[in-house]
Amino acid sequence: MLQVGIIGLGAMGQGMATNLAKAGVLTAIYNRTTEKAQLLGQKLGVFVAISPEELASQVNVIFLCVSRDCDVLEIVQALTKTIQAGSVVIDMSTVSSHTAKQAAAILAKKNVDFLDAPVSGGVEGANSGQLAMMVGGDVAVLEKVRPILETMATRIVHIGQTGTGQATKAVNQIMAAGINQAVTEALAFAQAQNLPMNKIIEVISGGAAGNWFLQHRGVTMTQGNYQAGFKLALHHKDLVICEQMGESVDVPLPLSTQTRLDYEQLMTDGFGDCDISALYRLKVK
Ligand code: NAP
Repeated sequence: MLQVGIIGLGAMGQGMATNLAKAGVLTAIYNRTTEKAQLLGQKLGVFVAISPEELASQVNVIFLCVSRDCDVLEIVQALTKTIQAGSVVIDMSTVSSHTAKQAAAILAKKNVDFLDAPVSGGVEGANSGQLAMMVGGDVAVLEKVRPILETMATRIVHIGQTGTGQATKAVNQIMAAGINQAVTEALAFAQAQNLPMNKIIEVISGGAAGNWFLQHRGVTMTQGNYQAGFKLALHHKDLVICEQMGESVDVPLPLSTQTRLDYEQLMTDGFGDCDISALYRLKVK
């Protein structure tokens, strides 16, 4: 029987854990900041582990949704101490393909399967269980856990071998950088003309230039509300990965580079924990 745990109860992990629990498949949760896990554990009625090691001793399917490459590797190392052979670890964090391969290799020594399964769809998608999930790894392992993944994602696509899920996510993040530049620049242009912003967003969202970011972040950004959402320091981390990958295949990514530099300025100014729509600050007069 599959027993499921999740590590990382941040903006994304909270909604994911809630959907796993609603589907009746969640056994245990862990979060580095204990209070978050205790509050959610009480709400969902699931076991709150005091460490990744304890969680790994209780379950045989482990989801990760943490911040960075080093965090994923640190947790994977901790899991190896207690994880049961035959378990599956599914990493939904956004990290590099290289990290996915490293994690898979560490776990393979314990006879544990690994899928890189980063997601797109924002906090809204995590809360509603309507994420898009791009998966790298053994297709048979994916099919074994697919019913569990379906409690969190409505579109689950197997891309290829380990690391290809993360490579696909890098494609997504490059696109997201360009969309952020286009939407913030265009809305600042509208604002400078004193156009009615809500009407602008309403009508453009329904046309060919409409997109998720405009629909979900357009109104809030023009009101100066940049509550995360997706922290821009995290998208910055992704764009560093994308630029490294771009260099390795000799593809220049000027939009990603510009966006990374803009984020660096915003991070220096103290906006790293704001949503990526805070890029609007650099565009408006
Ligand atoms: P977040 O709100 O900042 O949460 C990060 C989570 O990771 C927190 O639970 C944090 O624990 C935990 N964590 C970080 N480092 C850790 C470590 N060394 N050991 C244990 N736990 C650690 O981030 P998020 O928005 O949920 O994003 C999580 C991942 O999903 C990131 O890789 C991000 O790029 C990706 N993602 C985000 C979005 C989005 O829209 N937000 C969409 C798709 C993908 P604490 O509570 O103790 O800090």
